[in-house]
Amino acid sequence: MNTPSGREGVEADFLEGELKAIGFTTWRDGAGQTVGGNTGNVLARLEGTAPGATALLFNAHMDTVAPTDALVVREEEGVLRSSGDTILGADDKAGVAAVLEGVRAAVAEGFPRPTIEVVFTIAEETGLRGAKALDYAGLTARQGYAFDGGRPTGGIVVAAPSQNSLRVKVHGVAAHAGGAPEKGVNAIRVAADAILRMPLGRIDGETTANIGVIEGGKATNIVPDLVTLRGEARSRSEEKLERQTQAMVDAFHQAAAAAGVSAEVEVARSYTRFVVERDDRVVQRAVEAGRRSGIAEPVIRLGGGGSDANIFNANGIRSVVLGLGYDNPHGVDEHVPLEDVAIASQVAVELIRLAGQER
Ligand SMILES: [Zn+2]
Repeated sequence: MNTPSGREGVEADFLEGELKAIGFTTWRDGAGQTVGGNTGNVLARLEGTAPGATALLFNAHMDTVAPTDALVVREEEGVLRSSGDTILGADDKAGVAAVLEGVRAAVAEGFPRPTIEVVFTIAEETGLRGAKALDYAGLTARQGYAFDGGRPTGGIVVAAPSQNSLRVKVHGVAAHAGGAPEKGVNAIRVAADAILRMPLGRIDGETTANIGVIEGGKATNIVPDLVTLRGEARSRSEEKLERQTQAMVDAFHQAAAAAGVSAEVEVARSYTRFVVERDDRVVQRAVEAGRRSGIAEPVIRLGGGGSDANIFNANGIRSVVLGLGYDNPHGVDEHVPLEDVAIASQVAVELIRLAGQER
């Protein structure tokens, strides 16, 4: 299925049908309108059979990054790959498959289970927009698992950073580059000066920063009067994020002031950090579920990126991210062993079994 962000409708139809067949009540929210896509998020609930058991939320995102045109999935010696011209989309269809197969198998086994809620989101890859626009009022689970991690399979991401995004305009003064260059102020040069003044890359163990887009200038014979830039800073520490963001903002203003021009810097919060403690039931249950699924020692780690789990945590659903064993997500050589998807779906089964036994 070809489902880039905003075009998940065909997959949403399929998944709603599958969930209904298992016994779930399904519905969609209005997030599609908010993000300009052709479907909302798919939500589903199956009431529990174990009285008093903790309700669980399972999540994966339906969209993928591009390119996906003429996507073909090939299996080679138990490993799923694309033709090499497109991404595979294991990020995050391996997660979708693990959740769907996990809940199906758990219900089929018939053991006492908690209430299960499933959320298949849209537009994760374009800024977690589906999760941000999700209608949380219909959800009761307060503990969740986002099946949206890479290697290792069954690995548990218990923390993720906050991210700020920066949009910058550096103003210069236009002039003829041959006739009167001294009348101009080169905005590209001011932007370059600003970038050299700021710390970028890996700042410390929990902080990163990047300038990712720079655009400006019209012709070689014009001193450019405008450069626009986009960048970001991330940290698992709000204090460090604030410091790094301020250093980037200051660098633009200082470089502009040194050249006698100005810079406009807009800072926006993309998503907010989360930490789930290692002794939390959400984590410990995932460790035990991994062991029961054949993973000797499930890896607990701190994440460097945002995911729908950031948004769930911000909305009161304590969530971690589980690994699916795919490699090179977002690349045309993305691939995933079928065995790993099967293990991840077994992790979902065991999470349900364990929660059904808890009181
Ligand atoms: Zn993903």
